[in-house]
Amino acid sequence: MKVGQSLDVPENTEVLDYRNFTITPGLIDSHTHILTNQGLNEDLSIDAVMNSSESRVLRAAYFADSYLNAGFTTIRDLGNSGQYLDVEVKNAIEKGYIKGPRMLVSGPIIGSMDGQFYHLPVKDFQRISEQEQTMISGVEEAKKAVKEHIVQGVDVIKILAIGNRLTLSLDEMKAIVQTAHEQRLKVTVHCDRDWAVQAAIEAGVDGVEHGYGFRDTTLKIMAKKGIYLVPTYGSVKGAVHYHEIMNLKYNIEDIRNSLERRGKDLIRASQLGVRIVAGSDAYHDTKMPRGDDAKQTIWGYYDYGLSAEDVLKTATANAAIALEMKDQIGVIKENAFADLAVFEGDLKKDFKKSLFQVKMVMKDGKIQYQK
Ligand SMILES: [Zn+2]
Repeated sequence: MKVGQSLDVPENTEVLDYRNFTITPGLIDSHTHILTNQGLNEDLSIDAVMNSSESRVLRAAYFADSYLNAGFTTIRDLGNSGQYLDVEVKNAIEKGYIKGPRMLVSGPIIGSMDGQFYHLPVKDFQRISEQEQTMISGVEEAKKAVKEHIVQGVDVIKILAIGNRLTLSLDEMKAIVQTAHEQRLKVTVHCDRDWAVQAAIEAGVDGVEHGYGFRDTTLKIMAKKGIYLVPTYGSVKGAVHYHEIMNLKYNIEDIRNSLERRGKDLIRASQLGVRIVAGSDAYHDTKMPRGDDAKQTIWGYYDYGLSAEDVLKTATANAAIALEMKDQIGVIKENAFADLAVFEGDLKKDFKKSLFQVKMVMKDGKIQYQK
């Protein structure tokens, strides 16, 4: 891609005039689960029990397309994707068999022996947990799990600091991080408790997913070490939508108050210098296109008090740094990939409206969506 005011344009080049629109780098969602679609009333495990790998892959192709149409040209998919089904979908997109954003994938989440599932009979618990996650015990298994993931073609390692009851030990996390870093892969940790993130930070993880209610001291250490945070917090709009499709009564003020703490967490982390990276964690069946659902998180960041510019940064430049692709994506500059999203109106002035009015999406120089 070339960028400039007065470039030599070869004859017969198609000219797209977007002077009354807003052009951004293609958006990046750094925390997706396109192989999962959890019913709003269901446990996380139900989707993996009730659907074959084949149907999950086909459904993921549909979600991938939806992401692209919403303006996301790169997503990082972080597990709950069976046995490397994420790698299959990523490869199909790369080969052009299906349409979708560029994908970076983690394969099964690596965690302790009890994983993330519960409410399942014992025999199903074991089977589903082994299908959806890599459960390890001890340093040697930790190292082996990372190597197996790399052989299968993952781009990033995701670990589960806290399972149902067990946590990964410091030594296990250190072994995972060291093995991944030796092979030039980054490690991100699912962690929503301040006490549990301390060991992950000590083990040397590169990023933290969720991060509810971290103390200032923790956030300061993250800022100092350059550990990014992916705050997968819901938005008021998302919560209202949930109540409406579930036919539940709600009071808008109650919803606002219940999310106020998350908003304060986000602003605090940002003000303390932590790099904020947009990640939707969209995996519910919310009866709206998955790409639009993912944008609810970005909308939330804006409601919580980040400026439109800062919000966009979390889903472009900041994300590109976290994904180790800062010269290729999340930026409009010479030699970067030609990933662009065009929005109707002025995204800066009319953020909420404009964000959902996608005019055109280009990935790697090719138009993928046009209205
Ligand atoms: Zn998640």
